[in-house]
Amino acid sequence: MVGCRAIEVPVAPRKITQSAHIIHADQHGLKAEDFDRHALSVVYRLQKHGFAAYLVGGCIRDLLCGLEPKDFDVATDATPEEAKAVFKRSCRLIGRRFRLAHIHFGRDVIEVATFRGNGRVHESEKGRLITENVYGPMHEDAARRDFSVNAMYFDPSELTIHDYHQGYEDVHAKRLRLVGDPGARYREDPVRLLRAVRFAAKLNFQIEADTLAPISGLGDLLDDVPAARLFDESLKLFMKGHAAASYRSLDQHDLLRHLFPDTVPALEVADNNGLQRMLAEAMANTDERIRVGKPTTPAFLFGVLLWPALERQAAANRQQGMKPLPAAELAADKVISRQVSRISIPRRFSVPMREIWSLQPRFNSRQGKRAQRLYNHPRFRAAYDFLLLRAVADPRLQNLADWWTELQELDPDERRERLRSPAQRRAAGAR
Ligand code: ATP
Ligand code: MG
Repeated sequence: MVGCRAIEVPVAPRKITQSAHIIHADQHGLKAEDFDRHALSVVYRLQKHGFAAYLVGGCIRDLLCGLEPKDFDVATDATPEEAKAVFKRSCRLIGRRFRLAHIHFGRDVIEVATFRGNGRVHESEKGRLITENVYGPMHEDAARRDFSVNAMYFDPSELTIHDYHQGYEDVHAKRLRLVGDPGARYREDPVRLLRAVRFAAKLNFQIEADTLAPISGLGDLLDDVPAARLFDESLKLFMKGHAAASYRSLDQHDLLRHLFPDTVPALEVADNNGLQRMLAEAMANTDERIRVGKPTTPAFLFGVLLWPALERQAAANRQQGMKPLPAAELAADKVISRQVSRISIPRRFSVPMREIWSLQPRFNSRQGKRAQRLYNHPRFRAAYDFLLLRAVADPRLQNLADWWTELQELDPDERRERLRSPAQRRAAGAR
């Protein structure tokens, strides 16, 4: 459970306003030292040059929830060129459509965005709203942000939170609410569907009724989101310690099929309880590994998420008369190539993912060269963890999994002995 600070919550009228509700230090309890020192120095320096500057978005939300922020973003009325004039050589301007200033402190980078205004809105052929990128006043910047809890600004000089959309009240009510008309905001940027699920999972918030209602009906919008952006989003959904909650919510709101179009039909075929359990267990294991600081890799998690699709495709190939190994290899080709057109999993993850799959049938040989090579394979450990999960889906594999578990607990001499084939044993005896 995420613990939010228990502070008296001001109840402000719900209307889009041009003036912010100002929350003072005695009420919100945040201190300047809670924020990153580089981000603070950027804000102070911009203010010294006469610009308005604030810490903004996720860092305020996370601090109010008692979490450690991942990054600290700055919003200002200085244009990127003005920011460049202030920070000179430590500042790089990036982006073409909407320019941002990156202020470098060694390896640390603070992103500075100029307040964005309400550009003219065009409607694309598919009904997506495309808004022109223009600069504007602070209240318009606030209205363009996605959720009320992401639309707060912190002034470290005054120790005030500037809250245009009752974000402070929503943080304390553990409520995730889109700013503006939810349907229009999702159409404008369908990734907000995933962000809604993600923030609710991460913060343990309820999605407010009007923000929630359109989600299940709008999953198709994700089909037009670039595959690279969906890859970034899926890492944030599954690799940040709240995979189990994200997965449940994606499934519940019918978004999973838009991210993993071959997995969901495979799960829907009869007798899928085992695979459902396997996926749930994999998510819980990943969250636990992250919690205790163990390494995790998207290769493993994508491997699990695509396993139902792989199994189904491999079975179809076998039914057409293929032998098991080529059937599995061909299925892997097909599942990966279809999946990367939806979520562009880079090769540095899809190659090891495939290797983890390819090692699975090799667990069936418990002795001799094949077994010895498997044991010494650099991906043995990941493949073994994967075998344990397969045993969750199919209890007939439990014996085999236990055998490999025991093997790893033996001392090296005993292990060598156990992996020997009868022929190897005879040969060793004859020597
Ligand atoms: P985290 O970094 O923990 O994922 P965050 O809120 O900082 O959460 P970012 O993606 O880093 O999320 O974005 C920073 C801020 O930019 C958000 O807090 C929000 O105000 C705004 N923002 C980001 N993405 C969108 C979007 N798709 N639509 C509207 N506003 C957005
Ligand atoms: Mg962020």
